Amino acid sequence: MPTRAERQGRNESLFREVNERIAELNQTFHVEGRSEFLCECSREECKQPVSISIDEYEGVRRESTRFFVIPGHEDESVERVVERNERYVVVEKFGEAADEADDLDPRS
Ligand SMILES: [Zn+2]
Repeated sequence: MPTRAERQGRNESLFREVNERIAELNQTFHVEGRSEFLCECSREECKQPVSISIDEYEGVRRESTRFFVIPGHEDESVERVVERNERYVVVEKFGEAADEADDLDPRS
């Protein structure tokens, strides 16, 4: 049985994959301004949209252990907040969750 941390990590990485497709489409169609991406938190029931520009998205994606979530969806037992604004929070995983996020990084 996967541990809770492993399941959470996988869930986040799944949303990251979906967001990668959204980013690709936005680049293909030269979408300007912000787009709706999916919150990358570990709550299985969460499918909330996050309004974020492609530049902001790329900034987060540069680090394999960073994810963006809607404010309040951060989980400070497995991640620390590196950036916060009214639309989203950028978190950085640490420990086991960071290894998992790094292993599943679609860009590595
Ligand atoms: Zn969420």
